[in-house]
Amino acid sequence: MTFTPHGKHLIAGEWRATEQTFLSEPAHGSAHAFSVGTPELVDQAVRAAEDAFWSYGYSSRAQRAAFLEAIADEIEARAEAITEIGTQETGLPEARLNGERGRTTGQLRLFAQHILKGDYLDRRHDAAMPDRQPLPRPELRMMQRPIGPVAVFGASNFPLAFSTAGGDTAAALAAGCPVVVKGHGAHPGTGEIVAEAILAAIVKCDMPRGVFSLVQGGKRDVGQALVQHPLIKAVGFTGSLAGGRALFDLCAQRPEPIPFFGELGSVNPMFMLPEAVARRGEALGQGWAASLSMGAGQFCTNPGIAVVLNGPQADTFVEAARAALSTTGAQVMLTDGIASAYVSGAAQMGAQSGVQGLLTSMCDRREAKPFLFRVSAQDWMGNHALAEEVFGPLGLVVVARDMDEMLDLARSFGGQLTATLHMDEADAGLARRLMPILERKAGRVLANGFPTGVEVCDSMVHGGPYPASTNFGATSVGTLSIRRFLRPVCYQNIPASVLPADLA
Ligand code: NAP
Repeated sequence: MTFTPHGKHLIAGEWRATEQTFLSEPAHGSAHAFSVGTPELVDQAVRAAEDAFWSYGYSSRAQRAAFLEAIADEIEARAEAITEIGTQETGLPEARLNGERGRTTGQLRLFAQHILKGDYLDRRHDAAMPDRQPLPRPELRMMQRPIGPVAVFGASNFPLAFSTAGGDTAAALAAGCPVVVKGHGAHPGTGEIVAEAILAAIVKCDMPRGVFSLVQGGKRDVGQALVQHPLIKAVGFTGSLAGGRALFDLCAQRPEPIPFFGELGSVNPMFMLPEAVARRGEALGQGWAASLSMGAGQFCTNPGIAVVLNGPQADTFVEAARAALSTTGAQVMLTDGIASAYVSGAAQMGAQSGVQGLLTSMCDRREAKPFLFRVSAQDWMGNHALAEEVFGPLGLVVVARDMDEMLDLARSFGGQLTATLHMDEADAGLARRLMPILERKAGRVLANGFPTGVEVCDSMVHGGPYPASTNFGATSVGTLSIRRFLRPVCYQNIPASVLPADLA
């Protein structure tokens, strides 16, 4: 099935176009024209979302679960066409798009199951104590309620799982919040066909049309109008530190500030402990190279830094990584802009004092090849630029003189999505010293694996202290992510006949 996008925005059940258009920039195939989003369209979408909230926010959990299941079904019904347009626009391989679609529908279905169980409501009850002295206690109940319309920014690097019907949208819809998506300009056609699937589910489940809108990108004023709209109550975002910070600041400056749940990426350090490196340095080096270059390194959990202790065994690890990376072919990046940011980020890293290039590459237009650099812990700790994420398949080996320096290095990291320990049992003493530091730095600490696979489940935390995310109390992956779009309300002495159905 071939899908040809019509290039319109979906505003509360209607496909709408504005006068101006922009052209998509697919990695393969022909470009298509898309209508440019405007602040007026944002206003219409958000007003419709607020109207929809008065029914959708009070729908039953069973109704919302059926709606989420219907969205998943409608996405599957368009599977082939989604993969076709997704691969054309992003340059990601077919297998990746197919896998990501499974993850996206899996997320929607997981949230359907999650809300049916009802635990997420966190219902509490303190019975009345009319005879308590010196004062009686009233009857108190508490439950989580949806917050209202939510803005979602589609991420460039996950055109399905973190985009139009991705994790943020699934969590908000599960909570009972209508969603307005700002589509990412890197995959507007993929956004359109997924929006078409959501609209089909809206019709099938007879949901209010304003429960979902997609405003395609175009200019910065779309995103800015969206986060500043007075009826928007929270924002879900995955993208760059600069873009996320600008939008976060706009949210804080509003007359009514709102939470901005920004996931801004990190360098995801791996601490290579000495026994593990001595026993399996070569395999670890090869494993790191595979993780680092997977998907052209365009993952927020890409392990960009490996910290090793100086010595011949560390050299074996580094040489194995270098050899494996040197055989990795060129991979198409998501956009021209991301590819040029990668090349200039690599050039800047190579120019820093004390940085030695172990593997440097020539990259054509939109294609990335791996880079590998090495620096001493002392030079790294003295230069903040070396702690910044370079989005793509770039690795930096940081060499510590001894264990104390490795601990100092761990303390000097900023907030991270993940931190990894590669360790054997004989490394447990050092790992125990690192753990209290790493759990203050990262949303997820893992041992003997690579952080690039993010399981969608109840225990997952995909977040972390700033700059990994703008809100360290939250996660953007897994069932806990629904909490971002809920607000606790206490009901004091409210008669059962008036209480919300989930409490009565
Ligand atoms: P981005 O530039 O942060 O853009 C993400 C979204 O936010 C886009 O829809 C963008 O709209 C919008 N936006 C950004 N700055 C804005 C502003 N000041 N005002 C209004 N809207 C704004 O991220 P990207 O396009 O995905 O990729 C660029 C870089 O982000 C990459 O090179 C990489 O460094 C990083 N990145 C990180 C992650 C991660 O996992 N954390 C994921 C992807 C990318 P426009 O398209 O109109 O600018």
